[in-house]
Amino acid sequence: MAAADGINGANGANGTSNGDHDGEFDHGTQVIDENKEFTQTMPDYLSATHVLQAGFSYHLISVFGSQSTGKSTLLNHLFNTSFPVMSESKRQQTTKGIWMSLATDPEASTDPGKPHMADNILVMDVEGTDGRERGEDQDFERKSALFALATSEVLIVNIWEHQVGLYQGANMGLLKTVFEVNLQLFQKDKSTVHRSLLFFVIRDHIGHTPLENLKNTLMADLNNIWHGLSKPPGLESSQISDFFDFTFTTLPHKLLQPDQFKAETQRLKLRFREETPLNAKQAADGVLDTAETGVFLPAYHRRIPADGLPHYAGNIWRMITENKDLDLPTQQELLAQYRCDEISTACVELFDEIITPFETALNQKIVQENLGPSMKSALDIAISKFTEEAGRYHKGVYKRKLEDLQKKLQARLRVLFVAQLTAAHKTAVEIFADTIQKGIKRSGADFASLVTETRAAVLTDFIAEAMACSLDNMFIYTEELKAVEKDLDDRATRLRGEEMARLLTRMEKSLRSKFTSEDDGAAYMFKTISPTLYPRVWTLFTESVTSQVSVFTQRSTALNATMEENEQAVYQLKKRAWRVLRAILDEETKEQSLITRLMGYFDKDFRYDEHGVPRVWKAGEDIEGTFAKSKETVLKLIPELATFKLEEDKQPPLTEFIGEAPPGLEEAVAEEDDDEEDVTSPTSAKTFTILTPGRITSLTESFNRQADQAFVDAKRGTISSVEQ
Ligand code: GDP
Ligand code: MG
Repeated sequence: MAAADGINGANGANGTSNGDHDGEFDHGTQVIDENKEFTQTMPDYLSATHVLQAGFSYHLISVFGSQSTGKSTLLNHLFNTSFPVMSESKRQQTTKGIWMSLATDPEASTDPGKPHMADNILVMDVEGTDGRERGEDQDFERKSALFALATSEVLIVNIWEHQVGLYQGANMGLLKTVFEVNLQLFQKDKSTVHRSLLFFVIRDHIGHTPLENLKNTLMADLNNIWHGLSKPPGLESSQISDFFDFTFTTLPHKLLQPDQFKAETQRLKLRFREETPLNAKQAADGVLDTAETGVFLPAYHRRIPADGLPHYAGNIWRMITENKDLDLPTQQELLAQYRCDEISTACVELFDEIITPFETALNQKIVQENLGPSMKSALDIAISKFTEEAGRYHKGVYKRKLEDLQKKLQARLRVLFVAQLTAAHKTAVEIFADTIQKGIKRSGADFASLVTETRAAVLTDFIAEAMACSLDNMFIYTEELKAVEKDLDDRATRLRGEEMARLLTRMEKSLRSKFTSEDDGAAYMFKTISPTLYPRVWTLFTESVTSQVSVFTQRSTALNATMEENEQAVYQLKKRAWRVLRAILDEETKEQSLITRLMGYFDKDFRYDEHGVPRVWKAGEDIEGTFAKSKETVLKLIPELATFKLEEDKQPPLTEFIGEAPPGLEEAVAEEDDDEEDVTSPTSAKTFTILTPGRITSLTESFNRQADQAFVDAKRGTISSVEQ
């Protein structure tokens, strides 16, 4: 072992480096410096040595003993560390404060099959007391003992053979301190089984006294010390073995028997192996055969996860230096809070990496692709990291912090979920309306099945999106789904209403063109003014409307209109048809066009003879008689036109034809008829009155004037022919 040989140099450095830091950690790291201050190097050191992420898979060992008893030398031999040792020529103290170094086992890497030391053994080399000058030293001794007990599984007690049995010796004083501070710790921490192993290494063993005797002497002394201690209430009758296990070993003189020393330390090394054999059993007196069991019993482990060790150790040291009572359960809880918060922050950062882009895109108010799976994986990643890393800490704190984290992340995810549903809702209604509108335009599309199919399709998409974002039913979307369904149904009703209105308008238009047709419409019929004019127009009206109603009903059924909706529309169609017709009648019976027509009749009689030949009046012919007869015939037509009626002066059954207003329509109709008098109402004078008395008078007067003029012209014609 090259490392061991180099130790006797000036500062014992053998150049073995732990980790990647250039020379920085050649001798491990100083946890407590020479001013008794806790340094902040431990996290870097644990990170460089890859222990930080080891969870509970690490061990912590401390060494105790008077100054210059070869402690550092022993550690370097056992653990391949490079703690500074005192040069043999200059007898001065080297270890200051407390150092920490990771043990390495070169043989483990060369031959993994051979038994070897456990991984991740952290060794603390504690500055020893100088037997000569106590006082300030004693204070540090007490503090470092407390520190070591609160953190370490195994305490190596280094002692010269010749000191064994010297009850008043410096080492016994040290052990008394260890027991005292241990009791101090237990006063606060009675609930946990908190054991430690005291590993006695008896140095410079000459061999005259067998180990067994040395062991007995030491155990007797230790029990004596224990009995002499004043114990806190509740622990008065406690035994030393309630808290400690003991194991003893000897080592030959390093300088006088260097080869044996080396061989023995190599053998000793293997006691620091992993995994306690099944037959590990404890002797009644608390003396443990660690050669058989190995030293790392699970009960010794302080259960501080490696990544919490720096913070925990720092806090412990602060409590010790502030002379506060060390309350390990409280410290563990504080550590748990601190570490859980740190871990939680790291988890949120991972979560943010995935989720923040989605949150940023929220203002676009669109359905975000891949949101559901991303939400799920972000939550899974964050929570599983937290569970793994924080789960090693105090259970109560961990559970509380886990809940906090879950709530926090869920609250953020819920915002995304709600926004996604809102967007999906909007999209569903848009696609629905769009598809149906396009579908309606396609000829022959069946509105009813179009609605049913489109509704099912957009709802399937909506539910799929909602489900993807619901995080296995963590979020419920029943209400949202209902809202979408309602909106779709409302939209369908509205679309149908619009479509019905368009249909109604189309029907009205086609009726109008039928009514105004010059071939067979009312306009054509008005060319022949006779008592049968209005009956003919009525027949035209009822027949056209009836056939249009049947076309309409067919179409509105295809639109999936309800019976009520259809009845309402038919009712409206009939009323509108009458209004259209009524307007046409007004148009056809305008004074000017009526005069023209009436004059036509008059002229036919008066100006043409029965053969259709224009008359040339001669003197003596009965102009007056013909005139009077022609005029009378035409004047009889005017009252015929005044009222729209059927044969035998019957009123057309308009109200019966239109039917009663279906329920639910009153308002719409009232609105429609708001500005003008309802010409479809049987009580309205305007419904069937085509010419008011005033108009009859004015029409009669106009006609008379024109007819009279024709008479005067005819008269003048005969006079001039007589004069010729
Ligand atoms: P520490 O102060 O307890 O850490 O002691 P060191 O490891 O620095 O060693 C102090 C001195 O004791 C050094 O000069 C070592 O060479 C010497 N030394 C180391 N091991 C032994 C040993 O087994 N027996 C004797 N007699 N001296 C030793
Ligand atoms: Mg030392």
